[in-house]
Amino acid sequence: MKKNNSEQTARMPILFLGHGNPMNAIAHNDFTKKLSSLGRALPTPKYILCISAHWMTKGTWVTHMLEPKTIHDFYGFPQELFDVRYPAKGSIDLAEIVQQQIDEPQIGLDDNLWGLDHGTWSVLKHLYPEAQIPVVQLSIDISKPPQFHFELGKKIASLRNHGVLIVGSGNIVHNLSAISWEDTAQPHPWAIEFDEWVKRELLARNFAALTKDYLNSEAGRLSVPTPDHYYPLLYILGAVTKNDALHFDHEGFQNGSISMRCLHFASQALT
Ligand code: ZN
Repeated sequence: MKKNNSEQTARMPILFLGHGNPMNAIAHNDFTKKLSSLGRALPTPKYILCISAHWMTKGTWVTHMLEPKTIHDFYGFPQELFDVRYPAKGSIDLAEIVQQQIDEPQIGLDDNLWGLDHGTWSVLKHLYPEAQIPVVQLSIDISKPPQFHFELGKKIASLRNHGVLIVGSGNIVHNLSAISWEDTAQPHPWAIEFDEWVKRELLARNFAALTKDYLNSEAGRLSVPTPDHYYPLLYILGAVTKNDALHFDHEGFQNGSISMRCLHFASQALT
């Protein structure tokens, strides 16, 4: 098929990735292998816009810098992890497009505070190991209710038509106080129950339930004790269009209380 010369490109898929333990950045496991093959199957984006659970702010911001630094926003891990750099460029253009196309909320431009946190680089390192695609992060205004994040997802959806790969990076189940460091740790029953509930509602396209009802069960309250790792999913749901098919790329748990479920929506099957 002949491509035309216009700016219009095929609509990019959108991803929600469970990132889990920062050590996944340097691990080779079933999860990281799935990310690597997903990276090879995706159409090559012009830019990546990432909503990471680890950039929580007052107000909504985008990184507006040419060379975003790799942020090691954790402690107590081996030096090898602190040595990781993800040298992707930023994009002033994309940051300003995001700011200009959204009236409400007003998007702030962050020139030097943030960069790429591990919610972003620990997964992109497997998706795009050469770091050749410019990356911009969009922050999460943690003072806002769930519906705000879903609605903001709608407002960035059109970027998909311009070669922007939107990635939400969090975890559907994320309870650090219930973590187990045993090698043989099994997922908690409530973690399985909530992860399955989210899967069912995703398959049913019941995004209203996923936005409004996720704390209605004991399993939900245990799985989402704080909203930071759940909200990136809501941006992705907001950016779904009716022609998108849902695909699950990975499922499973780490440390008993972290769901590693990864999924994407795409209007055309990946190759
Ligand atoms: Zn995290």
